[in-house]
Amino acid sequence: MSAAQVMKAINKRVGTKKGSFALLVGIILFSATSGPETTLTLHFRVKEEDILTVQFEKIEADDHFFVLNLTEADMALIEHSFALARIHEYTGVSLVGIDHGNCTVRLNKECIQQIDPYNYVVELPFSALKESIDSTLVSTYEKAVLLQVSVYADNKHLRTWAAYLGVDIVSVDVTQKYMTVLCSYEELLALHLSGFHTEVVVDLTGTAKSAPHQLGPEYHTYEEVVSELSHIESDHASVAQVFSLGTSYEGRDIPGIKISDNVSTDESEPEAFICALHHAREAATVEVAMYTINYLTDHYAEPGYEYVTYLVDNREIYIVPIVNPDGKVYDDSGGSSGHGLYWRKNRQPCTGGIGTDLNRNYSYHWGGTGSSSICTSQTFRGYAPFDAPESAAVRDFIQLHPDITVLLSYHSHGSLVLWPWGYTYDPIADYRDRTVHQIIGRRYANYTNYVAQQGSDLYLCSGTTDDWSYGTTQNNEIPIFSWTVELEGGSFYPSPSLLLVICENNCSGALYVIECADNPYKVLPPSFGEIPQLFDTNSFFVAGNTAYCTDVLGTAKIAFGLARGGVTENPEGRTNTILTVAEHDTGNVIIVGGPGINPLAQEFDQKFAIIYTYNPGVAFQIACETKYIYLDLAHYPSEDVCIVYLGEDSSRNMMLVWGYGWRGTYAGSVLMGDSTIWQTYENAHMLMVRWTDSNGDGLVQMGEIAVESYV
Ligand SMILES: [Zn+2]
Repeated sequence: MSAAQVMKAINKRVGTKKGSFALLVGIILFSATSGPETTLTLHFRVKEEDILTVQFEKIEADDHFFVLNLTEADMALIEHSFALARIHEYTGVSLVGIDHGNCTVRLNKECIQQIDPYNYVVELPFSALKESIDSTLVSTYEKAVLLQVSVYADNKHLRTWAAYLGVDIVSVDVTQKYMTVLCSYEELLALHLSGFHTEVVVDLTGTAKSAPHQLGPEYHTYEEVVSELSHIESDHASVAQVFSLGTSYEGRDIPGIKISDNVSTDESEPEAFICALHHAREAATVEVAMYTINYLTDHYAEPGYEYVTYLVDNREIYIVPIVNPDGKVYDDSGGSSGHGLYWRKNRQPCTGGIGTDLNRNYSYHWGGTGSSSICTSQTFRGYAPFDAPESAAVRDFIQLHPDITVLLSYHSHGSLVLWPWGYTYDPIADYRDRTVHQIIGRRYANYTNYVAQQGSDLYLCSGTTDDWSYGTTQNNEIPIFSWTVELEGGSFYPSPSLLLVICENNCSGALYVIECADNPYKVLPPSFGEIPQLFDTNSFFVAGNTAYCTDVLGTAKIAFGLARGGVTENPEGRTNTILTVAEHDTGNVIIVGGPGINPLAQEFDQKFAIIYTYNPGVAFQIACETKYIYLDLAHYPSEDVCIVYLGEDSSRNMMLVWGYGWRGTYAGSVLMGDSTIWQTYENAHMLMVRWTDSNGDGLVQMGEIAVESYV
């Protein structure tokens, strides 16, 4: 294939205007939003045609090098050694530094031309294109319509890029180095030509059609869901009521069920909304929804299931097992045994094909990165927000129920719990909202053993349910806290033997989310700003069973700092061996000294997921809530590290202060003994502290303590 044909192929694939590369231009759009005010543009060109453009800020140029600043996302594209042009080879591009998502990069000056005050060009030789393409590697799949492909992509920017090419990212390997995608031959070619390392796992084209219900009796068909919901309603009339969310494109009812006491009355109870099967082939999601419906109704008022009874009595729970009935019926109509047709979208015609991706059709930041404007794409977003009747039905229902405070949208597969945002790499700006999403998401993930993270940590996608439900309510007194759950099972049609565990675990997670609906903010951990109230009464300062005087000194320092109004209970600290059982179980406890000397530290490290790793003589690391602090033992004892963690357990407050050696612990104690620290970090509940003995006196002074990271 010639270079011209290559360009044509990609241009055709992404439907660009003549002579430009929409896939690349699109990537520039999202990266430019975080760029500097006056942006300069660097064009990588072959034969006067842009193949990659990046926005940058120029820092300096000397005789040999041109140094510029650009975003991490753009750098990832260049780093990827964009195969079409082998940019590395021709420009000597190298990364000098990276800071908060911005990269400082150096290129050989001789390869750059300035064409006007804002535009710079790197002209690459035609041979760069010609030599680097070998489409024969993928040409055996020329007739394929649906391929399952493993793609090497070790960061979110590359995954976003792949999503931009229109492929459907099905799952990301736990190492996050590989992802599984479903795509057509054209998309495979686009991946290949864009420099991705691809391996076709299986060609799913033309899987033989067989009789309906080929998924097996363990899976519900659409008709079975409808009839089972009505049976549940008649069996449990006092707590279950079927409702219609609306009508699908082909005129099918989108069935839902309300579960609550006094079910026919709209009481002023907190509401939870749970939906499944936006994507037709994600068959296990229906089963999770149906299992949860049956669990709540079957066990209501049953001895031993007081939790279920409490939830049904005190919440209004809405569950919609099939958001996309047309897609479900179509998917079930064929495929080989145990598999559907791998259909994703709804069944609404568009120009040149069929189907809108319902999870790209919501209005919040609709049309952005990670959705496609092309009808045939797996991620076609529709021609306008909510132009698909199914997503519009979800919108209308939620808007009619302003008491909804939590939302779960089930997808598969990937073993993930995701929270907003999907459309941007930025985290939710509001600290409390962000933290609530993280905490409830992580607790859900504990039930299922999934990975919990922000949606865009995988790749960018826009127009999703959870971005919309949270995004459009984020200024409410209580917004709709929203999670997308990607089930496990490694397939859209997991073996029936896996279904029970998938359903049980996710049902437990769902019940927890429903419980949180009364006030999701209740899960917020105590924060340092609240220390005076938290330790007002019933506090014990515990220094460990084998504590040395220095630990006690650290304890005393905290006690001194926390004591107000002459209250200085146990300012010298206490060991936990003399704690009474009641004090241990109910007291507000400050634990000083690490697990080596203090069993309590070990006990609560586990509860708060504080993890430390020690490589004898080499290094020591403390990790907690995605942050970590690292001690190079070559610098010990003139350097030391420490964690201060404030948590809640069984309605009492706990603070842990411990470091690698006594100096670390002592530095943490000195730090927390100063009440200005509580105000400085008033919204945080975890600090990681480094002490460096800069004056060489072997003692800890306030000025030698640095807070390295905090949550
Ligand atoms: Zn999905």
